[in-house]
Amino acid sequence: MAALRFGASTGRMTLAGNDNGMFYFLVNTETVKAIFNEDVKEFNKTFNNKTVKANFDLDFTNNAKDLSSENVAAIIRGTEKPDEYIVVSAHLDHEGVKDGEVYNGADDDGSGTVAVLEIAEAFAKAKKDGHGPKRSIVFLNVTGEEKGLLGSQHYTDNDPIFPLANTVANLNIDMIGRVDPKRKTGDRNYIYLIGSDKLSTELHNISEEVNTKYAKVELDYTYNDDNDPNRFYYRSDHYNFAKNNIPVIFYFNGTHDDYHRPSDTPDKIEYDLLENRTRLVFYTAWELANRASRIIVDKAE
Ligand SMILES: [Zn+2]
Repeated sequence: MAALRFGASTGRMTLAGNDNGMFYFLVNTETVKAIFNEDVKEFNKTFNNKTVKANFDLDFTNNAKDLSSENVAAIIRGTEKPDEYIVVSAHLDHEGVKDGEVYNGADDDGSGTVAVLEIAEAFAKAKKDGHGPKRSIVFLNVTGEEKGLLGSQHYTDNDPIFPLANTVANLNIDMIGRVDPKRKTGDRNYIYLIGSDKLSTELHNISEEVNTKYAKVELDYTYNDDNDPNRFYYRSDHYNFAKNNIPVIFYFNGTHDDYHRPSDTPDKIEYDLLENRTRLVFYTAWELANRASRIIVDKAE
């Protein structure tokens, strides 16, 4: 249990430069006996919730290894308000190869990374034709999501390339190429939206309006419920922006039988849905980038 929780030899990754410098170790009952010459039961009776002094030598090996990885970021500079940023993100990592099997991650999050590329291409074309966005758009493909949102945490906590205070919103795409088999009602042309109303009522309204006007995807807020046990709001990269009071929308099709399995392959992607959902993110980003005033954060925490 301790190994699982604290990652003694389980290959748990943490973000460098982000720990609090605290060391801790766990002792078992034999160690307690060796140090205090007391049975644990007696020890608990005597010392429960008290600070205890003892001297002992500790011989240990630190097996931690340094690993490095990269986020990939690109920007289209705004024509009128270049110092205000809309971040469109997805995660470029997945589970890798385990026991010789490739975990393809076509939906998670191949769908999101190609959506970001398509949206970037559309904005680049618009700019070329003289319709560049008024605010800057940052296209951010982050690493280490599957290891605990590490790439996005690095971006927000260690090294925001563009100031968080000037970051207007984050539209995060993680799995938009499939259909949730547990979803029994409604149109197949749907998407779960999470987070849109949590920090900015205006963001939520804009998202609804552009969808009604252009994208016409059925917006499903099932997982936006604060009491939903899946807690998806905390489980993808947008959360690192949200915790900084930057309004977010998380676009997500829900899980399926191929979720985090080698069988998450591109032949199972429903490309018409992927396209519709990508257009929705594009229209929302377009509106956020081009409207007269920056959206208001009316529910900051
Ligand atoms: Zn994912």
